[in-house]
Amino acid sequence: DFDVIQLEKISNGNALLLLMWQLLHKCGLPNNFDIDDTVLLNFLQIVNGGYHPNPYHNSQHATNVLHFVQYVVDTGGMAHTIGMDACDHLAILLASVVHDYSHPGFNNKFHIRTSSYLAVLYNDMSVLENHSLAQVFQLCREPLYNIFASFSEEAFQTVRKSVIDMVLATNMEHHQHILTRFQARLGEPDPWCKKDDQRLAMECVLKLADAGDCCLPTRQYIHWATLQEMEFYSQGDAEKKVFGTSSPFMDRLQGRPHFAHGQLCFMKYVVTPLINAICRLLPRMRFVLQYLEKNQKMWIDIYGSKRSAGAKVDG
Ligand SMILES: [Zn+2]
Repeated sequence: DFDVIQLEKISNGNALLLLMWQLLHKCGLPNNFDIDDTVLLNFLQIVNGGYHPNPYHNSQHATNVLHFVQYVVDTGGMAHTIGMDACDHLAILLASVVHDYSHPGFNNKFHIRTSSYLAVLYNDMSVLENHSLAQVFQLCREPLYNIFASFSEEAFQTVRKSVIDMVLATNMEHHQHILTRFQARLGEPDPWCKKDDQRLAMECVLKLADAGDCCLPTRQYIHWATLQEMEFYSQGDAEKKVFGTSSPFMDRLQGRPHFAHGQLCFMKYVVTPLINAICRLLPRMRFVLQYLEKNQKMWIDIYGSKRSAGAKVDG
């Protein structure tokens, strides 16, 4: 029931900063790593402010992802199940906060097709994910924002690698590869104590938080879906100007039925297998399946199931 929109209003646009500050201190992480409060505040302020006012990819989306992730870590039991240490916990919270930092509002494909500055800079590879990561770690090279100043070399490299792996994993191009690895690992009986395994589980949880608005209560899901639709159409308009046609589900002339169809496909083929896999690891998260089913039913009730059969979730 966490209300990001309300927090954003009462915090005057600083919901991301406030939530991260609260969570870090609640978990004792600044004390654990001896992070200076002033530097932490500087860092969170500049990250919060570095999100552009895009319809969807803005600081509220990052706040929403951060909240979802912390819920899975804590109430969902992930910290206990995979044996997360302080570095893991800090890394997954940081990855949530920075994962779309400075997102320009158009996706990787648009940047690659238009040979944008960022696409050329990152050789067409995970353009926006690399951009967010590089920008944030560049900030941390300045003492004013260097939250890692007191870290040991080993702790810094561990957190940095985890943050990089997790943020790069949010690129949907790699979705099937990551999910397949996760599903295979779930079939093995060994405990989740290896760092690579822990990172894989954390990647999947961040991916779900990022792509799983449809696992939220319907009122919240509609809010996020409407914003995503606006951002899609904005890109679709730009694509029409440059290429003459829009990407699938980004053409505003096709309207909501088409968008709804896209959402149903996304829920069925992307989110459902991911949440089912995560629930095998974290059975306490099974309750979100009811939201997913409700949200699928909502679109089907409004627009019918033609070409849009809803997903079947386990159990
Ligand atoms: Zn995101």
